Amino acid sequence: MSLASYVGGKWVQGAGPGVALHDATTGEMIASASSEGVDFAAALAYARAVGGANLRRLNFHERAACLKRLARYLSERKEELYALSYATGATRADAWLDIEGGIGTLFVYASKGLKELPEGQVYIDGPAEPLAKSGGFFGQHVCVPLEGAAVQINAFNFPVWGMLEKLAPAMLAGVATIVKPATATAYLAELALRLVVASGELPEGAVQLICGGIGDLFEHLTCQDMIAFTGSASTARRLRAHPRVLERAVRFTAETDSLNSCILGPDAKSGSPEFELFVREVVREMTVKAGQKCTAIRKAVVPVAQGTALLEALCAELDTVVVGDPRRDGVRMGPLASLAQRREVLAQIERLRAAGQLIRGGDTRAQLAAVDAERGAFMLPTLLYCRDGGAGGAVHEVEAFGPVCTVLTYGTPAEAIECARRGAGSLVGSVFTADESIAAQLVLGLAPFHGRVLVVNRHCGADSTGHGSPLPHLVHGGPGRAGGGEELGGIRAVLHYMQRTAVQGTPDVLTAVTGRWLRGARELDSGIHPFRQSFGALRIGDSFRSRERAVTVADIERFAAVSGDYFYAHMDEAAAHRNPLFGGRVAHGYFLIAAAAGLFVDPPLGPVLANYGIDGLRFTQPVKPGDRIKVRLTCKEKSLRVGRGYGEVRWDTEITNQDGATVAQYDVLTLVSDEGLARE
Ligand code: NAP
Repeated sequence: MSLASYVGGKWVQGAGPGVALHDATTGEMIASASSEGVDFAAALAYARAVGGANLRRLNFHERAACLKRLARYLSERKEELYALSYATGATRADAWLDIEGGIGTLFVYASKGLKELPEGQVYIDGPAEPLAKSGGFFGQHVCVPLEGAAVQINAFNFPVWGMLEKLAPAMLAGVATIVKPATATAYLAELALRLVVASGELPEGAVQLICGGIGDLFEHLTCQDMIAFTGSASTARRLRAHPRVLERAVRFTAETDSLNSCILGPDAKSGSPEFELFVREVVREMTVKAGQKCTAIRKAVVPVAQGTALLEALCAELDTVVVGDPRRDGVRMGPLASLAQRREVLAQIERLRAAGQLIRGGDTRAQLAAVDAERGAFMLPTLLYCRDGGAGGAVHEVEAFGPVCTVLTYGTPAEAIECARRGAGSLVGSVFTADESIAAQLVLGLAPFHGRVLVVNRHCGADSTGHGSPLPHLVHGGPGRAGGGEELGGIRAVLHYMQRTAVQGTPDVLTAVTGRWLRGARELDSGIHPFRQSFGALRIGDSFRSRERAVTVADIERFAAVSGDYFYAHMDEAAAHRNPLFGGRVAHGYFLIAAAAGLFVDPPLGPVLANYGIDGLRFTQPVKPGDRIKVRLTCKEKSLRVGRGYGEVRWDTEITNQDGATVAQYDVLTLVSDEGLARE
């Protein structure tokens, strides 16, 4: 079978024989890949003119809804992916990370898009910054989608997850994607993309796929395109130095190699729960995906006193790992992705042996009688040992991208930190300790050199999501050798595909640009109380201004009795007088909020279904008995909850006193029916 690329909305066969791709277990040729003849300039132009334009016509919520439907579609057809995944050498459990991990990431981004992004097309980044005393001139950061293509180059080890975890945030941002999977496992990425296309859930042009090399694609990049790369540090170095990338300052983000450490705390003695959890984690990281994970533990860093016990425990656990055909029940570790990959890993083990002692594993083909280790890329998990943190050795330079880990010993926590930092920038580090102060010391020591730090102890061992699992909610990436890039991390990843622009202007201009009402902008009066307007009829800027009411000592005392809040500043004139902020009795802040609701609420049955909270509440001036307050309520932002018949309305709310000074400000959050409820 010859793999096809999906460009310009069509499946296109590459010319020539292409690269032969083999089943990792049997060595049988299963496909070939060639992108010869693909018009890369046309693919970029199509992404910009068709895919990007189609995506930008949708708002964030509509894009999120596409992702959700796509995730459901793929979920229903995931068995096709599992069946093919065995060819990569993955067991069912390994494939779960790739396939369910990828689909799960789509679900998370769909949900975050609906909950955390506005219903519009502009992302509002942070609060408006007042730039003039008059209140008439502001600055506001906004993010808008780049209008080019997101070129996403992926590594061979996660053909499905790698594609979907990059596709989801780009889609949400409104940027069309060109996926270039690693050739070695491109057959699985191709199948996944065929399902994506068949789902019909993505707008035309939103995604293209290149199976094989990317030819002259880089020659046609502009400042609106971006590259998101995952792979080795050496490839990243070459690609980010491409003259066109430099000349056009094309955004380039890289996720590369990483020598990740897992530190056993000085308190975690043999037999302790943390010691046991540590052993399990190291073995899992060595064997899941046969150690072909950028986040796998390469350095197990342990107290000198625990070195021998730890090696014994690891060997005992590794002895239980059945290596073999991933299609067979009971097999815990399959082969590496290819014979070439095994050759590479064995060469790296030789380099590591110069720095440490080989404890088990290495070139173990002869010991693997149960499998054909000449045709399949099998090897046994390999453990090395290095004293004194492997001072100056290859263990801090060489990434053996397979089931390989080195145990290193340390004397003090500072030495453990130094040992981890010598990876020169890593994706993830983990710490196993029951001592919170040691945990804090290690975390803060690791943090500048790591994108993620996991702390495990007996209380969270069962809940831990694991050292090696990037999560869509949390940042994935790391400094230095890890590439210096960042992916995932919730909505942060969406912003990587957008341009942040600081816009300066009047409140009316900023309201028009962002779709969110800014204090000082024009207030609209439809002649109807805004609480009587259905979600659809409400306009941004629709306002209500209340009558005035006096605040009395009797109000304060009644509120104290109802709430049970007898704080001296409300109840004891002499004591309140000594308070430097108040200089006398003041009303409860929560009384003001309640009294304001009494001023703005329109009581009869109507479209407002519920008040579901308050954001950003600030009491800015005390209110004293005898003061008079009134309230302004303005429709600030709307967001329809699709299919539910109602939407969220955010109301900018300001309570002022008889002098016009603001005494409290906040956003009231309500759910408002889209149909309107008839008054009885
Ligand atoms: P790789 O050889 O660097 O390849 C990565 C990607 O770059 C592949 O799609 C490859 O395509 C492409 N590529 C290579 N040369 C290129 C060129 N001149 N122009 C355009 N694209 C080019 O890495 P790999 O062997 O696939 O993956 C293993 C490495 O990736 C390990 O070092 C691992 O640590 C790292 N990794 C990092 C992460 C992370 O998130 N940080 C995740 C997974 C893996 P071809 O396959 O067609 O050559």
